Amino acid sequence: MEKPRTRFAPSPTGFMHIGNLRSAIFGYLMVKHDGGDFLLRIEDTDQTRKVEGAVEFIYNTCKLCGLEFDEGPLNGGPYGPYTQSERLDLYKKYAEELVEKGSAYYCFCSEERLEKLRKIAEDNHMAFMYDGHCKNLSKEEIEKNLKEGVPYVIRQKMPKEGTSSYDDLVYGHISVENHILEDQILLKSDGYPTYNFANVVDDHLMHITHVARGNEYVMSTPKYNLLYDAFGWKRPLYIHLPMVLGPDGQKLSKRNGDASFMDLYHEGYLPEAIVNYLALLGWSPEDNREIFTLEELVKVFDPKRISKSPSTYDVKKLNWVNAQYIKKMNFDSFYLFVRPYLEEAYDLSNKEESWIKELLRIYQNHISYGKEIVEVTDLFFKDHITFNEECKEFMKEETVPNTLKVFTEEIEQISDWTVENVNQAIMNTKEKANVKGKMLYMPIRIQVTGQMHGPELPDTIHLLGKETVLSRLKK
Ligand code: GLU
Repeated sequence: MEKPRTRFAPSPTGFMHIGNLRSAIFGYLMVKHDGGDFLLRIEDTDQTRKVEGAVEFIYNTCKLCGLEFDEGPLNGGPYGPYTQSERLDLYKKYAEELVEKGSAYYCFCSEERLEKLRKIAEDNHMAFMYDGHCKNLSKEEIEKNLKEGVPYVIRQKMPKEGTSSYDDLVYGHISVENHILEDQILLKSDGYPTYNFANVVDDHLMHITHVARGNEYVMSTPKYNLLYDAFGWKRPLYIHLPMVLGPDGQKLSKRNGDASFMDLYHEGYLPEAIVNYLALLGWSPEDNREIFTLEELVKVFDPKRISKSPSTYDVKKLNWVNAQYIKKMNFDSFYLFVRPYLEEAYDLSNKEESWIKELLRIYQNHISYGKEIVEVTDLFFKDHITFNEECKEFMKEETVPNTLKVFTEEIEQISDWTVENVNQAIMNTKEKANVKGKMLYMPIRIQVTGQMHGPELPDTIHLLGKETVLSRLKK
């Protein structure tokens, strides 16, 4: 069997968005499952969208995620260059070869002529489709134009009858009527190829066996296959990935909450958790398991289990997955991971190191992403806490004033400020105020933290310190 090879083929726009990264992950998992090669190819034929440093950025992102490229622009390989703008000679050569074979033709139509056609189509509410004007130019005419330097593009000559079809691993049998296929441009007048041409030439020359990419290419793939056939090349296997939707049901974009990997990373999402979450976005294992390392994903990944229906990017689920990874961290790693967020937000200069450690320890199981530590611990750093409506409502309960009064007296009496003694004060309050459960804990928690949930109450109170606790109790 031929060694499986797949590629991740982003445009170097300077970002790695969720959808992008998911394509890379699916390609990686699929090909590594079969012991194959994973390549990076930079598709920079739209030079206006190019961003400085984008290639390094893509490498860094993928490296953080554990996705290493076997070949690519920075680490090389036998089928380079791996950047499309460095392969222009190749595209020209192959486009001309197609012309010779009769499957493509020179088109000298001026922009004005095409504009007119577009206008007519628009006026008739029809989709614009090139009319094949240059398809049958005589050899002499073509040579004359070329000699005179008339700008040209090279177009693919589509069959006008019959159907073209292929089998997609996710979408099944796809078939289109040939007469709806436009004689699309393969090579532009500036010498750059279109995506439609470059992807085929490159995938062939780079020995790509499996093409995993977004489903926006499902319906144009028959055109690509016609190119493979015209050259006499073997078609790859296609795995078109279902779309990722935002919470509003629209295609995920910046507007409806798409995040870039680096945004998430800087917020304190762990790359392993992001990869784990994205692998489950449109794919599921045979059982209901949800937490996987990359190696485990490689082992169980089966592209046949990719779902056809679109999946929804769900931050809550991502938070849950990330929280599982945070809980599993050993404390030293957790400390190194979250301390910078705390330091950036608060003045820690007058805090003991042991106090900071204790604070982080009690919150390790209470955050979903690193930066959340700032939000959940702000009750330790601000002078005044406020109650939300739900807290206010609770504090209207009849037993609350007495519970707080008794608890205040108990706290005042503590001379040795330890967690055990704080806990004893709570137990004494239970006896003396004759309240238990929620009616005991909740008024105290709300009064001293301003929140209804959090880590163990004695730990929290102990960390707040006697003075702060008393001043909040007396408000
Ligand atoms: N450059 C294309 C994109 O970013 C890649 C599609 C493909 O993988 O072939 O959409």
